[in-house]
Amino acid sequence: MTNLNRRNFLRISATAGAGALFLHPAESMALVKKGNDTKFPTRKLGKTDLELPILSMGVMRADNPSVLRAAYNAGIIHFDTANGYQNGKNEEMVGNVLKGKPRESFVVATKCKANYPYGDNFEKEFTERFETSLKRLQMDYVDIFYAHALGEVGEVDDPRLVALLSKFKKEGKTRYLGFSTHANKPKQIDAAIDAGIYDVILLSYNFKMKQLKETDEAIARGVKAGIGFVAMKTMTGGVADAEGKKKIDAGACLKWAWQNKNITTIIPGFSSYDELEQCIAAANSPDLSNKEKEYLAALCNEELLYCVNCGKCVADCVEHLPIPDMMRAYMYNYGYKQPALSKDTLMELALSDDMCTSCKSCAVSCTEGFNVQKKIASISGLINVPNEFLV
Ligand code: SF4
Ligand code: SF4
Repeated sequence: MTNLNRRNFLRISATAGAGALFLHPAESMALVKKGNDTKFPTRKLGKTDLELPILSMGVMRADNPSVLRAAYNAGIIHFDTANGYQNGKNEEMVGNVLKGKPRESFVVATKCKANYPYGDNFEKEFTERFETSLKRLQMDYVDIFYAHALGEVGEVDDPRLVALLSKFKKEGKTRYLGFSTHANKPKQIDAAIDAGIYDVILLSYNFKMKQLKETDEAIARGVKAGIGFVAMKTMTGGVADAEGKKKIDAGACLKWAWQNKNITTIIPGFSSYDELEQCIAAANSPDLSNKEKEYLAALCNEELLYCVNCGKCVADCVEHLPIPDMMRAYMYNYGYKQPALSKDTLMELALSDDMCTSCKSCAVSCTEGFNVQKKIASISGLINVPNEFLV
């Protein structure tokens, strides 16, 4: 991991805008509530009282607390983590870094996952999971609590989930409620509007997306109903190849997503000072250039690590495997270099380790050209690797 030397440190200070790096905590409060005088543009998050810089931090891949500190000092105030990231160490790191800072000077979001359809003990287990997250974060409440990675439209307005989330908010465990999603986004957004309890939706949003028009229209309906939108997966895996040799231009990806003014902020998963600097540079000059447009257009025609979640493969597969989620696990392993997260994703899907063995040849024809069978074979062994051997 790159060290932040003094030259780079000063460079961040310069790009973040005068005063941002040495922002007094009391001033940070104004950042959250009223916008700021740094060069980061800010946008309002739905009907919440939060006005956030367009650049936030997805802490998921970060394991160096100093990077998180540098992000905070540079004027980033919204940090997104989850119960499952790094077996809980990610939440612990966020808690340790933010401990002692004025509570109003930052915005913390976390997420918990529950298997759907829910079992008999859903309420008890989900509550315990959230309470574990609060303990790790060393906080009485989070600003945004997300039900993690909802897949089916029926999950969004499931009465048991709606009742439990509403209870969390009433008890003061979270200021705002949301869910995160990678699939069925237009329908899920409409279901969220009807459910009436959601303040925020965290969704995958990038230049490779299928159903872009439908998704943008649904987002606009959500905004009209008071829901705020936070974008993730904007960099489509960060690298274009499994070897990690071909980096994707983070700035161009961020700028593409910021073009939609209904997206309040983005949570890129930077984990090094260099990546932080690239994101800050983009946020300080967020207009997409023609050259960047051409670059992204060319990238659209390439096979990347990112599954666009078109869903075609699910019907093709003789075992009806949850292939889009498995391809996400593949991206976590090869793009993010996070085998533990990849394993967690596979475990949540309750898969066996002998997938695809009944097929002589794969029946799936992927719209992105993925050799799905080969990709599944390359990650399925992770299920049997003990957690202590994974990062
Ligand atoms: S080989 Fe292809 S069709 Fe067969 S189970 Fe695996 S993904 Fe499905
Ligand atoms: S067909 Fe390919 S791109 Fe589409 S959901 Fe399946 S794996 Fe992803």
